[in-house]
Amino acid sequence: MIRETIKELIPYKVTQIENVVRLDANENSNNLSFMIDAEDLNRYPDNDASTLKKAIASYLSVDQEEIIVGNGSSEMIELLMRTYIESGDKILGFDISFSMYKIFAKIYDANYISVSNDNYVMDMDDLINQAVLKQPKLILICNPNNPTGYLINKTEIERLCKSTKSLVVVDEAYIEFCEGSMINRLSAYDNLIILRTFSKAWGLAGARVGYLIASQQIVNEISKVKAPYNLNALSQRAAIKALENSAETLKNIDEIINQREYIYNQMCEMGYKVYKSAANFLYFEGQELLYDELLSCGVLIRAFGNRKYRVSIGSKSDNEMFLEGLQSVQTRMVI
Ligand SMILES: *Cc1c(COP(=O)(O)O)cnc(C)c1O
Repeated sequence: MIRETIKELIPYKVTQIENVVRLDANENSNNLSFMIDAEDLNRYPDNDASTLKKAIASYLSVDQEEIIVGNGSSEMIELLMRTYIESGDKILGFDISFSMYKIFAKIYDANYISVSNDNYVMDMDDLINQAVLKQPKLILICNPNNPTGYLINKTEIERLCKSTKSLVVVDEAYIEFCEGSMINRLSAYDNLIILRTFSKAWGLAGARVGYLIASQQIVNEISKVKAPYNLNALSQRAAIKALENSAETLKNIDEIINQREYIYNQMCEMGYKVYKSAANFLYFEGQELLYDELLSCGVLIRAFGNRKYRVSIGSKSDNEMFLEGLQSVQTRMVI
């Protein structure tokens, strides 16, 4: 009795290995140092998450009514599809990007059209041509892109917003690690939607908090399909605390960027082909069996097939373990 489109899917798998340095999921290795209280858990949480929205609104200088919060930005991606996608509708995006776009598109029986970014560059001329030609309902852009780390210039995204009536969704999950957010261009484009998360720079992956920023009109439509009480009370409190203690996060971001550039240089010196990254990870080409070799050194990274890998930037000691792992692999294998 299962829906046709679900038959071809497989459950999302996460590699669960104990006692390894986890550099596979772009989490933050820094655990924020605050406590949250567990009182009033007999009551449902604030359905509007108004205290959290107020804090986000003030952090980003946007209106509280332009925000929806939920269970990770993954929930935001799903809410978008639930609001806008009917069976067979087109969604446009880059080929090598966040895997959940294609998975949700499949669940909602959309027709996902991909523009190639095999050579690392995300060609906005290509994307705009396809947008004009195919007139998709949604255009999904991850900026900077996961897993490649490529950053699209803001003026290029503005060019896209101007050339199409499609909804342009910019997933800024990693934007805190670089410049170029579209937040301050929201009022200029009524087809622009931005996604953000507390899972990466803000170090709260375990709390599952994400949010969407768009015009009030779009937010009103999406609010219709949001489940009541979608963000639990503990997570709302954790995100509020994180914003109240933003100094710690900002300092941590600087350290991650420094470490990213350090690891980039070290890897280049070892002869690896590493791609420039604007996020908290590096995408690179490595030996055929690198994933297993590093795992035997106690380091978990992400493998994408075709000798392409992604490593998250962790704590200094995590990163040293990774570099030492690479060194020991090099004594045994050629690149
Ligand atoms: C990690 C990630 C997310 C998911 O974030 P959650 O808020 O944890 O659901 C969304 N988009 C991209 C591109 C990501 O890499």
